[in-house]
Amino acid sequence: MKTDVSEALFERAVKVMPGGVNSPVRAFGAVGGSPRFIKKAKGQYIYDEDGNRYIDYIGSWGPMILGHCDSRVHEAVIRQAENGLSYGAATALEVEMAELICEIVPCVEMIRMVNSGTEAVMSAIRAARGFTGRDKVIKFEGCYHGHADAMLVKAGSGVMTSGVPDSSGVPEGCAKDTLTAVYNDAGSVRALFCKNPDSIACVIVEPVAANMGVVVPEEGFLSELRQLCDEYGALLIFDEVITGFRLALGGAAEYFGVTPDLVTYGKIIGGGMPVGAYGGRRDIMSVVSPVGKVYQAGTLSGNPIAMRAGITQLRILREDRGIYGRIGALGERLRSGLKKAVEAAGLPYRVTGIGSLSCLYFTDAEVCDYESAKSSDTGRFAAYFRHMLDHGSYIGPSQFEALFVSAAHTDEDIDKTVKDAEEYFGA
Ligand SMILES: *Cc1c(COP(=O)(O)O)cnc(C)c1O
Repeated sequence: MKTDVSEALFERAVKVMPGGVNSPVRAFGAVGGSPRFIKKAKGQYIYDEDGNRYIDYIGSWGPMILGHCDSRVHEAVIRQAENGLSYGAATALEVEMAELICEIVPCVEMIRMVNSGTEAVMSAIRAARGFTGRDKVIKFEGCYHGHADAMLVKAGSGVMTSGVPDSSGVPEGCAKDTLTAVYNDAGSVRALFCKNPDSIACVIVEPVAANMGVVVPEEGFLSELRQLCDEYGALLIFDEVITGFRLALGGAAEYFGVTPDLVTYGKIIGGGMPVGAYGGRRDIMSVVSPVGKVYQAGTLSGNPIAMRAGITQLRILREDRGIYGRIGALGERLRSGLKKAVEAAGLPYRVTGIGSLSCLYFTDAEVCDYESAKSSDTGRFAAYFRHMLDHGSYIGPSQFEALFVSAAHTDEDIDKTVKDAEEYFGA
């Protein structure tokens, strides 16, 4: 596989951007080699600057649930762009977007659009603190909620990949109110509540942890969080930046039948444009400025192009009710194929996942939390990753990222990827 153009670009990139990238995992630091520079994407494929084609299992880390460059979303965006790119004023599109999300997700009675998942989480936590008049926040080890200061404690995703447990540059004061619990261990949450019965504003959780690989919640875990929050007067926040409109149309709240007080979104709701949102109960959202005293604003928030892309994608997802069954079946095909490949090779590796989200861990431990996810042999992952990349399957360049399948993938794509894995494992 020819990679000269990507390599030359990376040489230039590292001179002018930290690590040559605008987001750390893209630098391939955990897997070695130089990153492939992507020129274009269509359907289930991405193409690099050297002209190589890959089956894409990243999907821009989640937004591209319909596959890349879906003609309906693409055309809607082009038409919208003809009316200008941004006004910084109220638009009909924002009303449509808010109504659409409130209609799809019953626990969202009001919503505020922002520009990223990071902003959504940061703002939701501020609203939770403003509403409850409390300061402390419980998060889970290995869950990633964007890069706001208070959330960079035992965080997943790139933070985990880089091997830095906590970021430098975060003042002690910013993180002192962040308490961490163990994923899938409601007892660890109860212990924190017992110690701090009157000072916890909220519990924030990825209802499926998809930033330490993919860790699925055990039966009853999420409903126990709901009960604990009710018992201690704290708010439950589902960070659905990945799971929203992916696990089911109504996200994890619908899938697991547990109702959070606030939800954060990103990724899918922008259809590939930079967007985030937070929403939930009307009484809580009413603390947000200009109605209430919790300030939060954004020059480009509710950007018309992003709204048009998001509305178009969400409508397609709402109308095509078979889509979740289809991407779920593709995910299952991938998981069972990978499982067979490692089993045939006699390796004790773990394949986890749910619906369109999957992960292969290089460990024999049952993966249920941060510690067990971290037991994966990342050196082995790196070698596997390079084989898959060189054979045309583009998976996340880190053990701790999910494999995403989209509605554009086919059984043949999955089978090709599984075959490459079988070859690698010598099955
Ligand atoms: C990606 C992600 C975020 C951060 O979103 P950005 O748009 O990258 O800021 C937050 N929470 C979860 C669960 C995510 O996966």
